[in-house]
Amino acid sequence: MSAEYEYDLFVIGAGSGGVRAARMAASTGARVGIAEDRYLGGTCVNVGCVPKKLYAYASHFQDNFSDAEGFGWQMAGPATFNWATLRDNKTSEISRLNGIYQRMLEGAGVTLFNARARLLDPHTVSLVSQGSETQVTAKQILLATGGWPWVPDFPGCEHAINSNQVFDLQNFPNRFLVLGGGYIAVEFASIFNGLGSETHLIYRGELFLKGFDQEVREFTCEEMAKKGVNLHFNTNIERIEPNGTALNVHLTTGEVLEVDAVLAATGRRANTEGLGLEAVGITLDASGKIPINERYETQVRSVLALGDLTNGPELTPVALAEAMQLVDTHFNKTEPKPLDYATIPTAVFCHPNIGTVGLSEEAAREKHTKICVYRTDFRSMKHTLSGNTERVLMKLIVDDETDVVVGAHMVGEDAGELIQGIAIAVRAGLTKRDFDCTVGIHPTGAEEFVTMREPSRY
Ligand code: NDP
Repeated sequence: MSAEYEYDLFVIGAGSGGVRAARMAASTGARVGIAEDRYLGGTCVNVGCVPKKLYAYASHFQDNFSDAEGFGWQMAGPATFNWATLRDNKTSEISRLNGIYQRMLEGAGVTLFNARARLLDPHTVSLVSQGSETQVTAKQILLATGGWPWVPDFPGCEHAINSNQVFDLQNFPNRFLVLGGGYIAVEFASIFNGLGSETHLIYRGELFLKGFDQEVREFTCEEMAKKGVNLHFNTNIERIEPNGTALNVHLTTGEVLEVDAVLAATGRRANTEGLGLEAVGITLDASGKIPINERYETQVRSVLALGDLTNGPELTPVALAEAMQLVDTHFNKTEPKPLDYATIPTAVFCHPNIGTVGLSEEAAREKHTKICVYRTDFRSMKHTLSGNTERVLMKLIVDDETDVVVGAHMVGEDAGELIQGIAIAVRAGLTKRDFDCTVGIHPTGAEEFVTMREPSRY
């Protein structure tokens, strides 16, 4: 501990990474402060993973209601959906989580400042709250301010909402349009389609979900189209014009769509505005992120950074893992154990869900001399009675030379839940033979992952 400074660590930003780092550092006996001027829990808790998953649950009920009929259930009348109930219940749950975050920080002995923080020098932070400024000093300062949605500039772009605003729409959009082809675009297209909106997804490229396994992208495209999402590829928005309470969206194809809300899901940028980086001499890299070394140190060694501010997957569990590494490195004084970024599993909560870990088939072909692809697609047992035409895709990518499973992919119900388990095997470098030697659980869809015997292609 350093008597020279008021804090050993001062964290700017109380999102997933910042809170975890603050709590863990405090648990080592360090004096820790944290500043947040918006909401505790950051994007994930307030305008990301948590409310998104709640909305995704809500949107699955439509399918569940119609699936139930084949099993003998009769609804008394047509199911109706009330947006205000969902939105307001979501808001109450988030307030509860905000309270938990506050208690966790207090319980860990972290001093919380409800203030806007800015770097003044490598060891000093300015805190502005309700017009008055104070300053604190710290041996180390951690920047953990995450990302912020970015909307491209086109005529009428001010009529588009971003992914922070979509959660709290006053009125339910009966006609919904989303621009983009990444995680947020496909998830919200599925959510609003499931909740009953006429939904359009506009993507500038050939096929959405760039970077994912090509077969996964194609399969997801077919399944989302089957569920009624109107997919417009090789298309962009030219301009948006208000039309009463509606919006006329002019597409580059010449088509005009009249909708009630437009969500721009066009990526997120590092949230560095007003952080005072220039005051200490920290410059951003070409992608607008803060460069760090393996000890999470920026160009100014006493200033650390992690999470969405830095390069790497913009995922909550990555920020959490980085926070643990950072605390190990600087407070537990253990050797840095770099994260294995190659085997970070991820899920996209579109309908059906995508779960994926490791290499796509295309990336594996580039990396390995010869690969074996095991794949299957099928209608799940549940849908033999429901009449639902949804199909499941499962895929294993194996390095032929070593028999190691280098990628696993799934499109289907609860793919994220299932791939989490498979990710342990992929992370551990297990072989296809290990998968084959594992006894399946019957009857499940998951057993397919241990019963695919014949390669589909090499
Ligand atoms: P992404 O970067 O994943 O996708 C942005 C999309 O917007 C891309 O399809 C991109 O096209 C398109 N785009 C970019 N610029 C323009 C433009 N000027 N005009 C038209 N389209 C444009 O960002 P998201 O906003 O979807 O999500 C941000 C991040 O948040 C994700 O990368 C992910 O890490 C994280 N996230 C994770 C979730 C999860 O784990 N389930 C859920 C939600 C978000 P192109 O492909 O051509 O570049």
